[in-house]
Formats: sequence, C-alpha cells, structure tokens
Amino acid sequence: MSKHIFITGGVVSGLGKGITGSSLGVLLKNSGLKIFMQKFDPYLNIDPGTMNPIEHGEVFVTNDGGETDLDLGHYERFIDVNLTKSSSYSAGRIYADALDIERQGGYKGKTVQVIPHITNLIKSKIYEVEKNNDYDVIISEIGGTVGDIESQPFLEAIRQIRMEKSKENVLFIHIALLPYLKVSNEFKTKPIQHSVKEMLSLGLQPDIIVARSEFSFEDKLKDKISSFCNVPKENVIECSDSDSIYKVPLIVQKSNMHKIVAKQLNLSLKDTDMSQWNSFVDNINASTEEVEITIVGKYVELSDAYLSVIESLKIAGYDLKHKIKLKWVNSRRISESNYEEILKDSKGILVPGGFGEEGIEGKICAAKYARVNNIPYLGICLGMQVACVEFARNVLNLKDASSTEINPNTNNPIIDILEGKNTKDIGGTLRLGAYKTTLLDNTLAKELYNSNEVIERHRHRYEFNNKYKEKFESNGMVFSGIYVEKNLVEIIEIPKNKFFIACQYHPEFTSRPNKPNPLFKGFIKSIIKNVQ
Ligand code: GLN
Repeated sequence: MSKHIFITGGVVSGLGKGITGSSLGVLLKNSGLKIFMQKFDPYLNIDPGTMNPIEHGEVFVTNDGGETDLDLGHYERFIDVNLTKSSSYSAGRIYADALDIERQGGYKGKTVQVIPHITNLIKSKIYEVEKNNDYDVIISEIGGTVGDIESQPFLEAIRQIRMEKSKENVLFIHIALLPYLKVSNEFKTKPIQHSVKEMLSLGLQPDIIVARSEFSFEDKLKDKISSFCNVPKENVIECSDSDSIYKVPLIVQKSNMHKIVAKQLNLSLKDTDMSQWNSFVDNINASTEEVEITIVGKYVELSDAYLSVIESLKIAGYDLKHKIKLKWVNSRRISESNYEEILKDSKGILVPGGFGEEGIEGKICAAKYARVNNIPYLGICLGMQVACVEFARNVLNLKDASSTEINPNTNNPIIDILEGKNTKDIGGTLRLGAYKTTLLDNTLAKELYNSNEVIERHRHRYEFNNKYKEKFESNGMVFSGIYVEKNLVEIIEIPKNKFFIACQYHPEFTSRPNKPNPLFKGFIKSIIKNVQ
C-alpha cells in the first residue's frame, strides 16, 4: 500500500508548492523509496493543452502524450521519474468524466452532486495510481490556495482519504506565506494562522507547516506558529527564498522534513544519498561566466511560457560551468526590414515552439539571420519548421514557400498536415508524446546524442513535407533524424554552418540535473566556443 502526502498552499499562490513537494520527493527517493507525483488543478479547462501560454505558462508533455501543467516539469526534473497522464488532473477533466458517466446512465438516475460523485472521482484518480503500481509514496499537490471556491472538492476528497486511511498513511503539508513587514521590521504569522483556520474549517489539520518567507527568521516564530496551528515545533519548517530552485532540496534536507514524514508514515529510510545533487549544486555555484542566448519567441511576456526550455538551457550551462543570460526578442516585432538590426549582437539564436500564424514571419527572419551569419542555431518544433521554410525561400528560391499553418493556399507547402489527419478540433488532435528518432551516421545529431536512436516527446500538428526532401538535400541540408515507421523528418541540420540544428520534437522535456539534453549542451558549447 502506498503512503500519501498531500500538499496545499495558503495565503497566496506562487509559493513554490511544486518545488517544495518535488524537493521532498528527491530526498525520499534518494533515501531508497519509490516515488510518484500528481497535480490536481482547480480550473475548469479539461487540460492545459488549449490554454494561452502567456496566461498559463508552458504545456508540459509526458511520455504517454499527456498535456499537463508546467509543475510536472519540475517534478520530473527533480525526482527524475517519467510521469504519465495520471499525474495531472484538472477539475474540468473530473467534471467531464462525471458528466460522461451520467450520460451513459452510470449513476442510475441518482442526483449527481459534488459530494459524493465528484469527490469519489477525485479519490479514484489517486487510488488508481496506488492500485496499479508499487509506489512507496505518492505526493499530490492541490493547485491554488486554500479558501478558493474551485479547490474545495479536492480538499474534501483528501479529507476523506485521511479519514479512510488514517494519519499513519496520509500526511498533510501546508505551505503558506510568512510575510515580512519592512516598516515595523518584523515577520507576521497571522496570515498563516488564518490559512490554517481555513483548513480546520474544512476538517483538515496540517501535519507540517512550511513557512515561506523572503528571509530567514528567528526560531521563536516557530513556537508561535506551532502553538497557534497545533503542530509540534519541529514540524514548522523554514523555507526562505533561494537564488536557485535546485538548492531547495538541500534546504529541505536541513530541515529534516523527510525524516519527520518518515516517522509519521512509518517509512524506513536508507541513508540519504544526495551526492549527485550536491555535485550539481556545486556546478551551479561554480558557474560564474555567462553565456548569452537570444530567444526569438512570441510568448515572451511570460517566461514561464518557455519554462522547460529555460531550465534545459540552465542545466546544460551548469554542466559547462556557465550561467545563462537570456535576451528575449518578440518575434511579432521582427520583419524583413528590421531583423538584422534587432539580431545583430546575437551570440546564439534559439527559436522555440509555438502555434498559429502570428509572429511566424519574425521567426523565419531569425532562422535566416542565424544561417546566413553562421551563428549557432537551435530550432525547436516550430523552430525547425521555420528553418525549413526559410531554407526553401532563400536557398531553393521558392519564394512563396510556407507552412500551411501560415498560408493554407501556398504552392510550396514545405510544412504541411499529413493526409487523413483531423484538423477541425483544436483539442487533442496533435502528435503527442514519445516517438523514436533514428539518427543518421556522420551527422551532428548522432555525434551529440552518441547513440543510434533517441526517444523524445512531441507536440505538434504539422510535419515536413517529404516531397521537397531531395531538393533540400542537394542544396546542403541534412535530414539527420527520422521517425522511420512513418518516414517523418525529426531533425534537420546544415553541416556547412558551425552549429545549425533543429528538431520537430521538444528536447526540453527530457533535460534533468546533471543530464542535460545533448542538443542544448551542444548548442551552448558551440556558443561558448564561438565567442572565444
Ligand atoms: N504549430 C506547429 C505545429 O503544430 C508547431 C508546434 C510546436 O512548436 N509545438 O506543428
């Protein structure tokens, strides 16, 4: 039987529940336990797949093709486990399932209600993971903040789980803000007290309280939180801001949170081996030199829209003892008339994924600038598609070359929808999840991956049109990675250039601390070399 840890948030959102939860996950995993993580989001969208990246951040894709919340990226990078669709549920998904059951007569004419029907479905998503696997601990984060109307069914479900399974099997961690008031030079525990009061009114008593503060605070505040919130003093954990999220597991280790958890849940821990994590943090501390990267994207207003790309760049940089300095360029603002001016100081250009026609022409200009000026280029998904369109227009001289995503009527659809694919629905019609790419001999891709094949995750609708392949090849482009089963182009490169590579998949989803995705590492290495 798995043990359960539920993480809730109090006072404000954005306190890093995901980071704290996955830090605890790292510690438990490195103490010999098998860990799984889940996220429950209170919003009513079925999944984040069709949500605006500027509002919601990136869509993280799991191996099995789940389109999930970006917190799953943190979970995977921290606990180094490939999660699945059953790691991410929104209220919308739960309600949609309930309504399906109702339409099929599954509730046998009963009145369908939040309690018990919705709460039972939430519990079933947690129990399903437990039943079908042998995880020692399942850590589940409840999105939002305690007190939100939308999150109430989730909180009621976890209250019932605690009642059904008891305190030895179910533990609650509440992460809440401990604000510091500059004028009076003091921390205020009242918001935490109110937040715990709110939890108590829902029948939930936290076992551990994590006080998230801007700075470290005096020990006596723990006494106060302890007595007002009914938890032993050692279960009040200080977590002040850190200059890197990757240092949080070490903060959590110092607080002994994993040991407190193990004691209550009756788990036996082996000696916690954080040597690998420590060496990663040593690399972070040793990364003093900077490497500058220009990202040309259209969701640049919110860096979370490219979270895994940024973390992959950082992780690859640390491996080379370099700090990443990002220069953001909004592709909507670039055109044929200004791109040279805007991109003139770029040391390396990365064009990430994206959807829709808007901003694509600017990305095409960015690919052109990198190719013509022999600047390291890494294209991801749409970043590969624009590099192909640019090559067709300016090297093959097919002036109207395009992607049918930009111009459905082009005479030269370099990037196109595969025949027979449904294009009407925007939700759930993409090539999603892990596919195998076979790498060709004597290519940069093969050199970087140092392997014959590689499995990477996809999230796109359009593909390279094989009709143009020969023409591209005879003009210097190499198709170095292929999804053989369907003969689809996965990687392109231009060997004449120092480093020009782009892939149809999303390499950013497989970078892990100490294990950067090879494309990111190769890209950064080439920039460092180029600048020297
Ligand atoms: N919009 C493109 C497609 O659907 C690229 C998608 C992406 O970059 N993730 O194929």
